[in-house]
Amino acid sequence: MEKSEYERLDIPTVVNAAGHLTRLGGTRIREEAVEAMKNASQSFARISDLQSRASELISEVTGSEAGYITCSASSGLTLGTAACIAGDDLSVMDSLPDTTGISDELLMAKAHRNIYDHNFRASGARIVEFGLNHVVTGLEDVKEWQIEQAITDNTIGIAYMAQPRNQLSLSTVVNVANDYDIPVIVDAAAQLPPVENLTHFIEEGADLVAFSGGKEVRGPQTTGFLAGRQDLIRSVALQHLDMSIAEPFWNLPENLVGNAEIKGVPNNGLGRSMKTGKEEIIGLLKALELFIEEDHDELKAEWMERNEIVASNLRSIEGFDVMIQDPKKNEIPQVIVNVDESVTGMSVKDLVQALISEEPRVEVRCFDGHLKNEMFTVNPFSLTNDEAQYVADRIVANMSN
Ligand SMILES: *Cc1c(COP(=O)(O)O)cnc(C)c1O
Repeated sequence: MEKSEYERLDIPTVVNAAGHLTRLGGTRIREEAVEAMKNASQSFARISDLQSRASELISEVTGSEAGYITCSASSGLTLGTAACIAGDDLSVMDSLPDTTGISDELLMAKAHRNIYDHNFRASGARIVEFGLNHVVTGLEDVKEWQIEQAITDNTIGIAYMAQPRNQLSLSTVVNVANDYDIPVIVDAAAQLPPVENLTHFIEEGADLVAFSGGKEVRGPQTTGFLAGRQDLIRSVALQHLDMSIAEPFWNLPENLVGNAEIKGVPNNGLGRSMKTGKEEIIGLLKALELFIEEDHDELKAEWMERNEIVASNLRSIEGFDVMIQDPKKNEIPQVIVNVDESVTGMSVKDLVQALISEEPRVEVRCFDGHLKNEMFTVNPFSLTNDEAQYVADRIVANMSN
């Protein structure tokens, strides 16, 4: 077999049983998207024209006024927050991320604070918390008055973390935000599928929603997209597009800029370090189109078949308690393995360590929480059926050493 580029450069390869983790390069990009990227790479279009068409297509599938392709959901959140701070003000755009003398308070439920907070703060915004954590669950329903209490003249928006287990409903946040005329920006990075979520948050009244292109959409790893209000997307575009152009030739597409009076060409903005290439834009559009057409029940059936391959092999190991997650309750059902070390004689830590030290590395899913509970999972998303068998074989081999 032909050597992979990784092998040619002596880079250890990975069999990815951990899902679409950024650390491992995410997913297999859809082949059609790779083809589209290859095609786009050999000729040119203005990035603003690409983004303009992307805006139309994103609007069509999300029901939003406008849309924009970012270099990840993360940069979508950064740019979206920058838009909430700056609006159409070129001098504020020029200052960011320095917000000295500029309103910069982004409200966020305490229970929504998370490991992706940097995405908002990189814009220059300061996060101001409202509500409290529940003592037991870490999640607390927040009352409208608790949100109102946190609003000041310096509030630029409210951030909302979308996840199925949320107690604080988006509509509660939107109600308050509308009363005070402040935008709501939703982190929906990991909320596709279900496909219905493309329109859901917009329907609920979100002003901006950030999705990831590198997760289940299976576009290029470094893509994401924003859907939302025309004026906010305009601010995103003004802070993201390359502005190295003589003024007479600067005319942004109507659907990106609307009829706003912009006082001349802005400087390159905050978004410059998050640029999107023509290949990424085209690749994501192709992947998104396919994601929407895809039969998600059929996909789930494929994942369940893969899970069955893994589970049936691992059930032979004494001291392993193997369970397949319910596909009705999980967007990506995985195989869960609880390990009783007193029977196996090998801890989860030692097993996972052994697997990642192999050639190729075998990466199962094992975060801190898993480790504490002496368990790991095998995620079918980024595996082929052959690889699923390989992963099972390697686990069995390590356990019988
Ligand atoms: C994955 C994820 C992100 C980051 O998305 P990228 O597209 O990788 O930047 C942000 N927020 C949440 C909740 C996520 O799960």
